[in-house]
Amino acid sequence: MIWNETVECMDREEMKKLQSLRLKRVVERVYHNCEPYRKRMQEAGVTPEDINSIDDIVKLPFSSKKDLRDYYPFGLLSSPMSEIVRIHASSGTTGKPIVVGLTRNDLSVWKEVGARCLTAFGLTNKDIVQVSYGYGLFTGGLGAHDAVQNIGGTVIPMSSGNTQKQIMLMHDLGANALACTPSYALYLAEAMEASEYNRDEFKLRVGVFGAEPWTESMRKEIEQKMGIKAYDIYGLTEIIGPGVGYECECQNGTHLNEDHFYPEIVDPETGEPVELGQVGELVFTTLTKEGMPLIRFRTRDLTALHYEKCSCGRTFVRMDKIMGRCDDMLIIRGVNVFPSQIEAVICETEEFEPHFFITVDRINNTDTFEVQVEVKEAFYSDDIKSMLELKKKIAHKIQGVIGIQPDIKLVEPRSLQRSEGKAKRVLDKRVLV
Ligand code: ADP
Ligand code: ZN
Repeated sequence: MIWNETVECMDREEMKKLQSLRLKRVVERVYHNCEPYRKRMQEAGVTPEDINSIDDIVKLPFSSKKDLRDYYPFGLLSSPMSEIVRIHASSGTTGKPIVVGLTRNDLSVWKEVGARCLTAFGLTNKDIVQVSYGYGLFTGGLGAHDAVQNIGGTVIPMSSGNTQKQIMLMHDLGANALACTPSYALYLAEAMEASEYNRDEFKLRVGVFGAEPWTESMRKEIEQKMGIKAYDIYGLTEIIGPGVGYECECQNGTHLNEDHFYPEIVDPETGEPVELGQVGELVFTTLTKEGMPLIRFRTRDLTALHYEKCSCGRTFVRMDKIMGRCDDMLIIRGVNVFPSQIEAVICETEEFEPHFFITVDRINNTDTFEVQVEVKEAFYSDDIKSMLELKKKIAHKIQGVIGIQPDIKLVEPRSLQRSEGKAKRVLDKRVLV
């Protein structure tokens, strides 16, 4: 099923024309309405007249999270405050959050792209969707909420937390779909298992999961535990929130809503475009945003893009699963390590639950690297020998993938903290000093 066939299946040449027209318009908008953009373009020696096709985009300077902090809270708005109807903010780990402002038109673009996602997941006005992303400044809750209503579905605005009640309502109201982070989905799956209800008493069919990186193995784990089909939805506050990209039934990459958000992949070090199909940093230009358009925004997310037509009929570009963020990457004893690599190994090893926690420190000038992993009930025992074997096994497997061996700490079933939103799986004590 396709929500907006004209656009989602548009001929690539037509798409390019549409993007070119919209790029020109948005560049004019920021140049005339937003001082920081005008200044930066002047410094780079570009004017709106230089932008005549989408290919001219490389002439424009980049923007980044730092700009949103520097011009906090409203310095990057390109619309008067009277036209801003909603504020959102992203968590921001340190200091001030990043704040964005949306106009009425921005909200309708958001619910349009959201509806495309849910439709691709096979949801319709007959479905009941439990939204267990957090509501509030975080874009997850309200973003998914508006999308469900736009397809005419029934929304259960649960928000995150209160896990027992989540399970009860999911059961009693007969939710067909669950929208939350993949890590919270795992937590809910465990809670469903432990609940008084049998799995077949739930009507769940579809998972709408995103807001954090997750692996194929994690997907399988959730699908098996919940008996559902799990789909990826991608987004970020600065660009709009959930709905920037979505998987179709082929699950052959995440389609990007490129009529509104134009993607590029650049080398994270140099900012130069990478070869077609290569991994690099994802950059977005919002082609239709009014409130706070962003030009060539560096997402820090690492992925690759593929332009061949998808078997679902959509011509929208497909993006690989996000490997992680450039700033997620740990350098341990000189080796690049992504938490997603460790997650994949743990999920593929039958003795472990899909929960882990990485601690990195520096002692006597050497990096220490510990991974806590949770042993499944059925494999946990007091027998020291078998536990040592298990430790060795997982340490070797991880070494096989990343090249260095972690200290493994086996922990009891259900002892690692579960997440209700975005999971936190790394503590790098080196950056605290
Ligand atoms: P914060 O920056 O505080 O985490 P956001 O909610 O805006 O706030 O987070 C957006 C980021 O979340 C993206 O840049 C990306 O790193 C991650 N993300 C969102 N959706 C997905 C997804 N489906 N897969 C992988 N990562 C995702
Ligand atoms: Zn497709």
